Amino acid sequence: MKYTEITHPSHPHDLVLGSAEEPYQCDGCKEVGFGPCFKCGQCNFNLHEECAMPEPSAFHPFFSKCDFRFYENAPGSSDRFYDACGKDVRGFVYQCSHEHDLHPCCMKLQRTLIGDGVKLHLSDKVSTRCLKCGSKEISKGFRGWSYESSCGQYRYHVACVKDLVLENWRRGYFDDGHNTMALQIMVRNEDIVQQTGGSSSSRMKVSKYWRMAKVALTLIISAVFGDPTTVVATFIASLLSS
Ligand SMILES: [Zn+2]
Ligand SMILES: [Zn+2]
Ligand SMILES: [Zn+2]
Ligand SMILES: [Zn+2]
Ligand SMILES: [Zn+2]
Repeated sequence: MKYTEITHPSHPHDLVLGSAEEPYQCDGCKEVGFGPCFKCGQCNFNLHEECAMPEPSAFHPFFSKCDFRFYENAPGSSDRFYDACGKDVRGFVYQCSHEHDLHPCCMKLQRTLIGDGVKLHLSDKVSTRCLKCGSKEISKGFRGWSYESSCGQYRYHVACVKDLVLENWRRGYFDDGHNTMALQIMVRNEDIVQQTGGSSSSRMKVSKYWRMAKVALTLIISAVFGDPTTVVATFIASLLSS
């Protein structure tokens, strides 16, 4: 059964399942959300679906020995960070006894994404560089999770895809419609040149590479922010059309 209206112990008013037209900060885990969310009709309070209805305990294949438990306020979290995306733990969290921490939304990320000739796998290993930040690591010594194509050419950190949406939000994309800057941060030119050889005869390869990178990014945005609702799909379309 799918709940569309709930009461939540962290908030005095009822919460209704809806679709956020622009990114929001989840009042549970403090992480960005976009699209599906439980929101209060009386005040500015939003929760990810995963944060509104967490499982009391959970398991993740990347941590085969770990038994995760959900906490609204985890004991002693002040100097801890989330394993998947590297952000500081500031709210709702799944924790295990070995000090691993996961956002509810990261816990739920699909292992495999398939669409339009691209197959992506969720990975916690380092192989190629992320196409957004140009680095293997999110921060020094910390890899973070990423989605990587089976061919090995396309890779985006989960954290970088969240940042991409946040950056566009802050830059005013969601206020004035379109932003042609958006595409430049999606794939760095030097990466394309490096991957395709860079000669003028490789123009066909560049355009194919570019198209596949867009497909990969679309799949990941949809996976990170939940079902591609109309608002999310519109955002992706305009991001990729510029
Ligand atoms: Zn949340
Ligand atoms: Zn409220
Ligand atoms: Zn553990
Ligand atoms: Zn996370
Ligand atoms: Zn990255």
